[in-house]
Amino acid sequence: MDEFQFIDSIKPKSYTQHSIEKGIGDDAAVFRSMTYDTVTAVDTFVEDIHFSKKTMKFYHIGYRALAANISDMAAMGAEPKFYLVSITIPPGTSSKELQQMYSGMKEIATDYKMDLIGGDTVSGKQLVVCITIIGFVSRGKARYRSHASVGDIVFVTGTLGDSQAGLHILLDDLEVTGQEQFIKSHLMPTPRVQFAQSLQTLNRVALNDVSDGIASELNEIAKASNVNIVIDDAKVPINPHLEQFTKEQQHEWKYFGGEDFELVGTVPPKDWQSLKENAIKMTLDISEIGLVTDNKMKKGQVFLKKENQTHLLIKQGYIHKVGE
Ligand code: ADP
Ligand code: MG
Repeated sequence: MDEFQFIDSIKPKSYTQHSIEKGIGDDAAVFRSMTYDTVTAVDTFVEDIHFSKKTMKFYHIGYRALAANISDMAAMGAEPKFYLVSITIPPGTSSKELQQMYSGMKEIATDYKMDLIGGDTVSGKQLVVCITIIGFVSRGKARYRSHASVGDIVFVTGTLGDSQAGLHILLDDLEVTGQEQFIKSHLMPTPRVQFAQSLQTLNRVALNDVSDGIASELNEIAKASNVNIVIDDAKVPINPHLEQFTKEQQHEWKYFGGEDFELVGTVPPKDWQSLKENAIKMTLDISEIGLVTDNKMKKGQVFLKKENQTHLLIKQGYIHKVGE
């Protein structure tokens, strides 16, 4: 199968989004929108850095890569609409494997009525999947990290640490109770688009998605908003089955693990009740984990209360080294 036949094989037969003027097949795609703000992001998924073929099938590589992008849209309060996929193909990859990767992307794209509108195909040493995503949000309603304010309640959806537990189970071939849920969180996470959409009526919400670990995400909110955040370890939600792992592993995965693609954010106390009701309606767990404070100290810091002590929670999540 040559490049053209391959592109033809992954090209959508029809598009869901009416705003598409030109999808795959020209030098670039065209969409038209007059009523919304356009939100866009790009994410790169590199073999042996971000994923391994040992723990992920091609289908999951596609699913997981697009899920991470969709989660960025959720964190902005936007609805994902289109995606473009640039792939670097290493020698020995079959077109069947690549098509499986595209089926993984298509599976999750269909859930959100998203369309594949373009991409690029090159050869290289390692498998690299680079996805650009485009979404829409009502004018002026994008949710920024800088929107936290003193007195806000800090919340998080779902449970934390599941994805890292899943990775650990796959890498070490472990058998633990509830492992299917952990593995699913790792391979096929659910971005919280619907929940973020339900917050549209609120005036102010700060949002971030948990890609690098909640320690990192909370530090980003605290810095961008120039406030301090205090969270309570006893309130940070974990899956009860996570208790099968050591205390150190639980701590590490819940604060620094990441890739759970839950949403963490802050809202004024007056909006907390309605936000909670929205989550309950969609059978999504939501937890109040702390407060936005202003204690006259250096701003932009995050504190963790654990066993009657307060620790500084630094952004040591997974920070990629830049240069030598
Ligand atoms: P050009 O040479 O003009 O860049 P290409 O031959 O690279 O065109 O691409 C032709 C069409 O196929 C374009 O619409 C492009 O967006 C799309 N395309 C190319 N590679 C991919 C890919 N890996 N996934 C999705 N769409 C692709
Ligand atoms: Mg091209």
